[in-house]
Amino acid sequence: MGLLSSWRRQRTLAKHPVADDTWQRVRHQLSFLDGLTEAEDQWLREAAVLFLQEKHLTCLPGVELHQEQRLLLAAQAQLPLLNLGELNWYSGFHEIVLYPDDFVSPQRHRDASGVEHEWDGEHSGEAWQQGPIILAWPGVMASGGWEGYNLVIHELAHKLDMLNGDANGLPPLHSDMRVSDWAQVMQHAYDDLNRQLDHNPDAETPIDPYAAENPAEFFAVTSEYFFSAPDLLHDSYPQVYQQLQLFYRQDPLQRLTRLQAEHPAYQPPLD
Ligand SMILES: [Zn+2]
Repeated sequence: MGLLSSWRRQRTLAKHPVADDTWQRVRHQLSFLDGLTEAEDQWLREAAVLFLQEKHLTCLPGVELHQEQRLLLAAQAQLPLLNLGELNWYSGFHEIVLYPDDFVSPQRHRDASGVEHEWDGEHSGEAWQQGPIILAWPGVMASGGWEGYNLVIHELAHKLDMLNGDANGLPPLHSDMRVSDWAQVMQHAYDDLNRQLDHNPDAETPIDPYAAENPAEFFAVTSEYFFSAPDLLHDSYPQVYQQLQLFYRQDPLQRLTRLQAEHPAYQPPLD
């Protein structure tokens, strides 16, 4: 980081201070951040402030956000970047639009025979190529625990995926990773999930069947699990967990396991 950007960063942080009790309240609502080290917590707190200065939050009628709620969103958005260095991973968008509830948007799908189907789908989030992220506020509020659901991380994973072109489940990998490993591992798990659903559309799949929609959704959904139900993802698709661990350079499973070992009542086992 250059001197100028470091100076700017410090100035922005000084201009937008976050009171300790405000940050504590944010942390209290985001149990999936439990177990972060003090240094990681400090980084996240600053990164959340900088994120809110860089991005424009457009709130539709029915959504009113105070500093605490804005930080709640920003802290979740920044968690994936914790160990990804100073590169501007979220450079692909400037705006986050917040809806008061799930919204309907036109969907299009071309089936295997080339027929185009259109319908209106109900959504809690969307990420547009070269455009904003749209989030339904109740979905943001429902995120942040260890339940295998995180709307913010889901949509931002799409944005990471789009950094090197269309969303296709392959974000720009680090130089110590291999595209062939990624592709093989992801394809294998994606095929396995689809096989289960082809066999029985109501199958109890180990992860949300929405991941079987297409490779982009597979990456977004498994990213959600990586951060918010790492044990479940690791049990079902350990190699996917491993690739995501290499990509995000974090080990949430280790964090969760340590929490459970230190506080046996920390988290009831998922069934
Ligand atoms: Zn998605």
